[in-house]
Order: sequence, then structure tokens, then C-alpha cells
Amino acid sequence: MNIHEYQAKQLLAKFGVAISPGAVAFTPEEAVAGAKTLPGPLYVVKSQIHAGGRGKGKFVGLGPDAKGGVRLARSIEEVEAHAKEMLGRVLVTVQTGPQGKEVKRLYIENGSDIAHEYYFSLVVDRGTGRVGVIASTEGGVDIEEVAEHHPEKIVSFSVDPATGFMPHHARAVAFGLKLTGDLNKQCQDTVTKLYEAFVATDASMLEVNPLIATTDGYIRVLDAKMGFDSNALYRHPDIVELRDLAEEDPMEIEASKFDLAYIKLDGNIGCMVNGAGLAMASLDIIKLSGGEPANFLDVGGGAQGKGAGGVQDHPLRPRGQRHSGQHLRRHHALRHHR
Ligand code: ADP
Ligand code: MG
Repeated sequence: MNIHEYQAKQLLAKFGVAISPGAVAFTPEEAVAGAKTLPGPLYVVKSQIHAGGRGKGKFVGLGPDAKGGVRLARSIEEVEAHAKEMLGRVLVTVQTGPQGKEVKRLYIENGSDIAHEYYFSLVVDRGTGRVGVIASTEGGVDIEEVAEHHPEKIVSFSVDPATGFMPHHARAVAFGLKLTGDLNKQCQDTVTKLYEAFVATDASMLEVNPLIATTDGYIRVLDAKMGFDSNALYRHPDIVELRDLAEEDPMEIEASKFDLAYIKLDGNIGCMVNGAGLAMASLDIIKLSGGEPANFLDVGGGAQGKGAGGVQDHPLRPRGQRHSGQHLRRHHALRHHR
């Protein structure tokens, strides 16, 4: 399950992570009221959708020269004008697919004077069974691009869950980002807290792009994408409340009612498969043969009752393996890209 940027920031702030002041808005009036609570004089109006690349995204119907889904505003009036133009409009980014996503909420954030943008992320690495750490001096841009063209600018390692995040891990990040003095200290403190938040919330992914150093010498989380392990959500009712069904595919919501691991994909070959491993292998074989799968569907090991259950029954089954749709889509696309 994924959450919005502003929700992730509010969650991280509880762990002591430094964020900018901001306010969520569902209407232009709320955007104005929110902006008035901020110190200013620079504001940023940020589309809240479950997809990255918003800054470079394009709104449907506004033409190619219009501003994207993250906009600077130098006055409250400008905040209002942007809010009016952005709310209710469909934003297309590299991560939304061509159909885009309707912007239903905005986050009005105080503007930061950015000295440098960095990249930092934590992700559960299934291969090693550890939390993988990725950091780069090249923030604010697509990390896949950096990995391809400047792999030397990426620091990555994994953390043994038995020891947890140690001071030397924090130093590896801060020095890897070439930070010195107080910024280096702040960075160590921030990434340690980010790791604490990640583990405490059973997150599966936390991407801070960018993590910034401000011109007046502060480290701050400027963007945050967070996803959680569905199998652990029963331990976090407060996080479940952050679920935004408007961001999820209606078919996936329907499937989740029956505890089916179903993820819609873009192709035309429907797959009903017994077991996650076999389902992944089936997708691979279809792709290898030049086809496009229409979905991932793991009806689970004890499939008999459940296949029918999705139609008529509501069987309670033990929580099995489930996959984050975003992870799967990205992972699958990446694998076949290489
Ligand atoms: P996305 O990654 O979806 O495009 P971000 O939140 O990363 O969205 O915003 C895109 C860019 O906008 C950032 O890389 C940063 O340069 C700028 N930006 C975002 N928030 C602020 C802010 N509060 N103050 C100043 N610049 C910002
Ligand atoms: Mg970003």
C-alpha cells in the first residue's frame, strides 16, 4: 500500500525527520488558507498523486508549455491561481502511464532555498533479505538514469537486520554524499531516523528524492514516497487509515476484498495462476515470447475454494505473499528493459 507525499512527511516527522511546513488542500480555498499558515515568501504547490515525476509531468488540456505538477508560487494569489488550474485536472507523468491521474489534493509547502539535491532510498531487498540503502549526490533526477550513466555516483549497501542501522552506515551515506561539517552530522542523523521510521512502520519502500541541503545549512526531506508491506498492515491501523482508494485501480480494490493478489497490467493475455512464483514465471514466459500479460493474479496455493471465492464467497485465508503493484510493475518493466 502506498501513501501520499504529505502523509509520508507527516509520518516521518513523528520520528524526528526534518521536513518543511506545509498544508494539504482539497479546494483552492483550502490552498489559500493553508498557504497563509506558512512563513513564505516562497510557496510550492504540489500535486498529490501516487506517482513520481510530478514536477516534469504535463496536465491534460493545458498545452505543452504549461507548468507541471509541482509549481513555485511567490504570493498567496499565485498559490490560488495554481490551485484552481491544477485541482480536478489529469496529470501525466513518466510513472502514471499515458492515462494519467486526476489531481484531487494538493500539498502547499513552504519553499526551500536549495543548495543541492541528493537521493536517498531504502527498500526491502528480497535477494539478501535485508534493507537495501541507496544514496547519490545526483538527486532530483531519475535514479535509474544515474544508475545507467553514472553508476560511480551511487553508494549502495545493505543493512544486516541483526545489527540494524549502525553509525558506520550513517557515515557511509553522509560521506558518500560528500557532506562535511554540520551538514554531514545532520545527514547522519536524518538517515538514521529514516531507517528507524522504515523499520517501525514495516515499510517496503521509502524514497527521498530529493533530500536537500539548504543554502542556510539545513538537511531536509523535500520529497517522500512510501510503500508498506500489505502483510504487516494489520499491525498499523493508523497507516491503513491513510489509504486513498481513489489512487488504486477499481479491479485491484475488488480483488483485495477477496484477498486475491491481483495486479492489473497493460497487456491482453489474462493470467490466472496458482502461486506467486509460477505467476511471475508465467509473466516472464509471455514477455519472452513477445506477448503482453493483462494482469498478475496469484490465486494462492489452496486455490480451489478461492478462485470461486472471488466470484461468490468470501473465504478467509491466511495472509499469503502479496506484491506491491508498483514494485511489480517497475521490477517487471526493468527486467525486460535490460
Ligand atoms: P516529483 O519527484 O514528483 O517531481 P518533487 O517533490 O521531488 O516531485 O518536486 C520536484 C522538484 O521540485 C524537486 O526536485 C525540487 O527541485 C522542487 N521542489 C519540491 N518541493 C520544493 C520546496 N518545498 N521548495 C523548493 N523546491 C521544491
Ligand atoms: Mg521527487
